[in-house]
Amino acid sequence: MSLILDTDKCTACGQCVDVCPFGVLSLEGENLVIGEGCNLCGACLEACEAGALALPETAGPSPRPGVPPDGIWVFAEQRHGELAPVALELLGEARRLAEALGVKVSAVLCGGQVEPLAPVLLDRGADKVYLVEHPLLAEFLEEPYVAALTSLAKKYQPEIILAGATYVGRAFIPGVAAALKTGLTADCTAFAIDPEPRLLQQTRPAFGGNIMATIITPRTYPQMATARPGTFKPLAPGYQGDGQVVQVGFDPAGAAGRSRFLSTVAEIKERVALAAAEVIVAGGRGLKEAKNFKLLEELADLLGAAVGATRAAVDAGWISYPHQIGQTGKTVSPKVYLACGISGAAQHLVGMQSSDFIVAINKDPGAPIFQVADVGLVGDVMEIVPALIQEIKKSRGS
Ligand SMILES: Cc1cc2nc3c(=O)[nH]c(=O)nc-3n(C[C@H](O)[C@H](O)[C@H](O)COP(=O)(O)OP(=O)(O)OC[C@H]3O[C@@H](n4cnc5c(N)ncnc54)[C@H](O)[C@@H]3O)c2cc1C
Repeated sequence: MSLILDTDKCTACGQCVDVCPFGVLSLEGENLVIGEGCNLCGACLEACEAGALALPETAGPSPRPGVPPDGIWVFAEQRHGELAPVALELLGEARRLAEALGVKVSAVLCGGQVEPLAPVLLDRGADKVYLVEHPLLAEFLEEPYVAALTSLAKKYQPEIILAGATYVGRAFIPGVAAALKTGLTADCTAFAIDPEPRLLQQTRPAFGGNIMATIITPRTYPQMATARPGTFKPLAPGYQGDGQVVQVGFDPAGAAGRSRFLSTVAEIKERVALAAAEVIVAGGRGLKEAKNFKLLEELADLLGAAVGATRAAVDAGWISYPHQIGQTGKTVSPKVYLACGISGAAQHLVGMQSSDFIVAINKDPGAPIFQVADVGLVGDVMEIVPALIQEIKKSRGS
């Protein structure tokens, strides 16, 4: 698909050549030449006073005539035979999107010997699993994973590819998008379908979190996006789809790149991992000083919860960065989120508002956190939290 030039209207003024950020336009005598590499950004259209340039119409779901599009794909990230939770979360979201589009959902499972994970994916929302097994894929390396997903996508033509915005997804999905010559929206927090042109609306914070931008990929396929872990809900087990597993070969020729796997170093775990916690007790600037986080830790211990924080609390040095929740921290969706002395700024809400049940304690009845809270307690956090701790201890007879 390329830029459309109306040669009758073109005056060869060269304005478009000057503004093209990719240098793909040139003049040969009186003729405008559109070179390789145009990504249809549209900058030239604004510069063309003669109205000689146009973008092609939105394409259909498959760029290859005769090849039916293959619905929605979810990259099923796994490490050492364990699925990343985001893979199941995205399968749940993909099912919702697939219903709007009337298509199937497939999971792409790459690894060394990962076949035992295929039934899990089928049980949690996949109609089909593309299984790509090869020793070169046993440990994550960017180049082989780019090669595996790219060749699969070229062969089967998915309409949409979703992956987790994890270290793995962030490392190799841009390479796949570049190889497929399509766009990528990273770090999405919401998806929707515009059914008429069959477009995926990809929403993410932009301009430092000051706006939520909804981005579409109208002219290139597949439509690709990564989403933050913890943003979407996985489907409950028991999905009854087509139950198909397609074994796909992997050609290692040219896939081995400049990086080499040496060894795995286990990360130092947080006391209770925030991303997996069912209950989170989070504190903000309303706690006033570092030592008051001890109170939250005591409450968290009693509830078997993880401790989270706002950026204000982290910036103040009261708690370390791995505890930060929000746009520039972690995204969480626990069963219960207890917000203590947190105002509810948009950048914090984006990381926790999909929690099942939100309890907020704030002395200001007008604090925005109360707009997302299921239960709001207007009062002093330094009175309410100790009282809560006492009540829990009393109820447990300790
Ligand atoms: C680009 C960008 C990225 C950002 N990323 C993040 C992010 O990832 N996570 C994040 O959290 N923020 C982030 N922020 C910051 C965000 O905008 C807010 O400044 C921050 O969330 C505010 O934290 P807070 O609620 O703790 O503090 P405040 O907004 O100061 O709120 C403190 C609240 O405590 C209440 N309070 C005070 N005393 C008491 C008391 N004794 N008892 C009960 N309540 C009390 C007050 O009424 C107030 O509502 C980001 C900002 C930008 C610009």
